[in-house]
Amino acid sequence: MAIDFEIPPEAKAIRERVRKWVQDECRPAEQRLLDGEDYKTVLGELRAKARGQGLWCPFIPPEHGGMGLGPLANALVQMELGESYLGALSMNTQGPDDATMMTLLAHGTEYQKEKFLKPLLNGEKRICYSMTEKAAGADATGMQTRAVKDGNENYVLNGEKWFSSAASVADIALVMAKTDPDAPRHQQFSTFIVELPNPGYKIKRDIGTMAAEGPLSHVLGGGHSEIEIKDLVVPAENLLGGEGNGFNMGQHRLAYGRLRHGMHNVAMAQRALDLAVGHITQRTTFGEPLHRRQGVQWMVADCATEIYKARLMLLHIAYKAEKGLDLRQETGMAKIFLANMVHQVVDTAIQLHGALGYSTDTPLARWYTHIRSQRLVDWPDEVHRWTIGRNVIKAYQQHGTTASMCGGDLL
Ligand SMILES: Cc1cc2nc3c(=O)[nH]c(=O)nc-3n(C[C@H](O)[C@H](O)[C@H](O)COP(=O)(O)OP(=O)(O)OC[C@H]3O[C@@H](n4cnc5c(N)ncnc54)[C@H](O)[C@@H]3O)c2cc1C
Repeated sequence: MAIDFEIPPEAKAIRERVRKWVQDECRPAEQRLLDGEDYKTVLGELRAKARGQGLWCPFIPPEHGGMGLGPLANALVQMELGESYLGALSMNTQGPDDATMMTLLAHGTEYQKEKFLKPLLNGEKRICYSMTEKAAGADATGMQTRAVKDGNENYVLNGEKWFSSAASVADIALVMAKTDPDAPRHQQFSTFIVELPNPGYKIKRDIGTMAAEGPLSHVLGGGHSEIEIKDLVVPAENLLGGEGNGFNMGQHRLAYGRLRHGMHNVAMAQRALDLAVGHITQRTTFGEPLHRRQGVQWMVADCATEIYKARLMLLHIAYKAEKGLDLRQETGMAKIFLANMVHQVVDTAIQLHGALGYSTDTPLARWYTHIRSQRLVDWPDEVHRWTIGRNVIKAYQQHGTTASMCGGDLL
C-alpha cells in the first residue's frame, strides 16, 4: 500500500499532548485574562510551564531549544493550537515571530543569531516583519523604501511601511528596502534587522481594522502599524542574508506562514462546529429540537466536509514536505481553501446560534471579523489563483494533461 494514513506513534503522542495542553492549560488561562488578570503574568506562567514540559518552538531544531518536529508532527501540533488565543503564544510559535525566526535561523550570521535570534527563541523578545507599503502589497517589488550605504559602517533607510503586524509590541523589526534600483526586479531588495524602539522607525498609528476589538486584542496582537522610516541608521552587520536577497528570504518566510494560518484555521473551524452542534442539541424551536431538522443537519454536514477536506490537504502537503517534494502548487491551493473554509464554517456556526452567534458572548463574532483578513494576507486569493491557473496551463502544455497540478501525483 503506497498511501498510509496511519500517523506515526511519536507524532500521534505529541499531538495528544498538545491537545491536552490547549484544553487543560490554554483555555483556562484565556479565561483568567478575560477575568482581568495581568497578561504578562498569565502568559509568563503558561510559557514557563509549557517549556518545562518540552512544549516549545515546535519546528525549531533541538540544538536551538525547540522540539525539532518535522512537517507532519508540526502540522498536527499547529492544527491543535488554533483553538485558543493563547495556544501558539504559549509555545512561542505565534505569528509573525515564528516564520521570522526561521528566516534568521536560515540566513543569520553567528553574531545575528546570538544577538537577535536567541532572545526570540527564549521568548524574551518579539519581532515583526515590515515589507508591505501603501505603494506595494501583493506585488512587493513595488516597494519604495530605500536603503543607501553610508561608508562601510551603516545603511540609512528612508520610506514608509504599512500593516506591520505586532510592530507596537515588537523589540526587533525585519525591514525590507531597496538597495539597488538597477538590479533585476527581484534582486533590488535587502532585509535589515532593526532594534526597537528606534527614532528612525516611528510607529505613526495602529491602523483601525474591521476586526472586532476584544478585551485581549491589544496585548495579544499588538495591532497592525503604519510606520514612518526617516533617516533610520542600521549597522551594516545587521544586513540579513546579503544584499539583493531580501525578496527570496521574504518568500521563504511567507511559504511557512501561509500554511501556519491555515493549520490554525482547522482548530478554529473545529471548535466553531463543536459550539454549533452543542447549541443545536440544546435548542428547540417550533416544538422540534434544532438538531432533528434536516436543513440544519445539512448545514452541519457541509461544515464537517469542509473541515475534512482541510485536514486531507494539510496531511498531503505535510507528506510532500516530509519527502522533500515540490509543494508550491498545493500550498497555494490550500492557502485559499483554508481561509475560505474557516470563513464558511464560522459563518454557519454564527447562523445556527442565531442572535447569540452575533453577540460577543461566544468567540464566533470576533473570529468572524478576524479571519476575513486571511483572504488578503500572504497574497490575496486572486494572486494565488493566478499562479495556480498558470501552473495548470503549463502542465497541460508540457504533459498533455493538467493532472500533476491538480493533486494527480496521488494516483
Ligand atoms: C491583517 C493584516 C496583517 C498584515 N500583516 C503584515 C505584516 O506583518 N507585514 C507585512 O509586510 N505585510 C502585512 N500585511 C499586508 C499584506 O501582506 C497585504 O495586504 C497583501 O499582500 C495585499 O497587498 P495590498 O493590500 O497592497 O493589496 P493590493 O496589492 O493592492 O491588491 C488589491 C487587490 O487586487 C487584486 N489583485 C492584486 N493583484 C492581482 C493579480 N495579479 N491578479 C488578480 N487580482 C489581483 C486582489 O483582489 C487584491 O486583494 C498584512 C495585511 C493585513 C490585512
